[in-house]
Amino acid sequence: MSKYIMALDQGTTSSRCIIYDKSGRIVSDAQSEFKQYFPHEGWVEHDAMEIWSTQMGVANEALLKRNLTYRDIEAIGITNQRETTVVWDKDTGVPVCPAIVWQCRRTADYAAELKEKGYEKVVRDKTGLIIDAYFSATKLKWILDHVDGAREKAEAGKLLFGTIETWLVWKMTGGRSHVTDYSNASRTMLFNIHELKWDDDILEFLDIPKQMLPEPVENSGNFGYTIKELFGGPIPITGLAGDQQAALFGETCFDEGDVKCTYGTGSFLLLNTGKQPVVSQNGLLSTIAWGLNGEVNYALEGSAFVCGAAIQWLRDQLRIVRRAKDTEAMALKVKSSDGVYFVPAFVGLGAPYWDPEARGAFFGITRGTSKNHIVRAALESMAYQNEDLLRAMESDLKCSKEGGCIERVKVDGGACRNDFLMQFQSDISHVEIVRHDNIESTSLGAAYLAGLATGYYDSIEDIVKNKSVDRVFEPEMSTEDRKKALEGWHRAVSAAKAFGNV
Ligand code: ADP
Repeated sequence: MSKYIMALDQGTTSSRCIIYDKSGRIVSDAQSEFKQYFPHEGWVEHDAMEIWSTQMGVANEALLKRNLTYRDIEAIGITNQRETTVVWDKDTGVPVCPAIVWQCRRTADYAAELKEKGYEKVVRDKTGLIIDAYFSATKLKWILDHVDGAREKAEAGKLLFGTIETWLVWKMTGGRSHVTDYSNASRTMLFNIHELKWDDDILEFLDIPKQMLPEPVENSGNFGYTIKELFGGPIPITGLAGDQQAALFGETCFDEGDVKCTYGTGSFLLLNTGKQPVVSQNGLLSTIAWGLNGEVNYALEGSAFVCGAAIQWLRDQLRIVRRAKDTEAMALKVKSSDGVYFVPAFVGLGAPYWDPEARGAFFGITRGTSKNHIVRAALESMAYQNEDLLRAMESDLKCSKEGGCIERVKVDGGACRNDFLMQFQSDISHVEIVRHDNIESTSLGAAYLAGLATGYYDSIEDIVKNKSVDRVFEPEMSTEDRKKALEGWHRAVSAAKAFGNV
């Protein structure tokens, strides 16, 4: 058995490689940002070749930094930005056009058209998703309809489609493996999450040739070996997962009812719903968490578009904060937000409101409001949005337990380092917040999935042993204060919605 696992974390703005030892300690890492292209308003593209080259660059850099070779690496796990769509020529390995990034809105009108035609229910029932330009399906259709000759070539079996993990595995194995894992497949809006296969009805109404789609596989298994030109010798690729599902796995949310929250630019909450998908009545998405040892775990997912981004805005636009981490001390300089609420609806509101017209606003400002109150209100808004998502999840679970069914949330992402924010989240959601020592749960999840396939880890119990807790936050706020605070927040949200919808 080799000593380490290599995790490749292919994110929206950078490619990273992290090499882990068995205890989950970082042995080496390297990171490279790549270019974002905005060719038209609302369009976002990546160069798939640059994604490939930066990812291989950082992998080699991480090895070289510690004088490691392919022999030191037991296996590779890949985690990636989800939904981003690549189509390439099977013979040349060259993409037919830039990758269409998950954020790209070019197919918004087409997605609206699908809704108008009444496809919403069938898509939700089969894929667990709401029809939206965000998912891969309409992006793939756009490429087939707009790139010269693409449809003919695809129908002749000459083009391949993939999300980013598919693309990387195909390149790394010299074109031998064309696979996608269940977690990534479940974000394409083409995958039947109950039957675990591409859905023929959806493919038909979107007019997508099935032969260009990758083979769906479990998240842990043998997906091929790297060609020797990359690392001097072969390394097996044995773990794959979309970033949020990888984080759920990395946070060891293995049991039904386990929840993780990632506090990044946006926030992402995932609830493990066990062996059954839960259909949301509250605008959340049902998705596959992972397939492992012949069994599938499902999850409910909700996200807030603006989380840490609110802090970036205070820092870069308003300039009342110097560094993101200073917000903690600033918030603690005042006893409360003093009735000030911030609704960070910069780009509308996501679940459970789904209001694209709502806009950001501060409420309750008086002559006594200081920048510390503003900062505190911004941090609190991050927690309030997550609280709304947690309540939506409980409602979907049909939870009737006094005090709620979700008792604990495991946290990661840059802003989870903010102790004030974590305590406030615990207070306002009346849950225990658990922060682990290693909050790099996304790459860790990919490493765990890879290690489980080769026997580097015997079982998930072996992984759980690995995790050490940094800090647990327990709720301290009185029920009455909590009720009052939440009532104020919901009034502020209603006002922000009213302002945007005229
Ligand atoms: P992403 O992966 O989405 O780029 P990260 O997980 O790196 O995001 O988290 C960074 C985000 O968290 C930034 O938006 C930043 O403003 C915010 N952030 C980082 N540290 C803190 C902190 N101590 N308090 C509040 N926000 C923070």
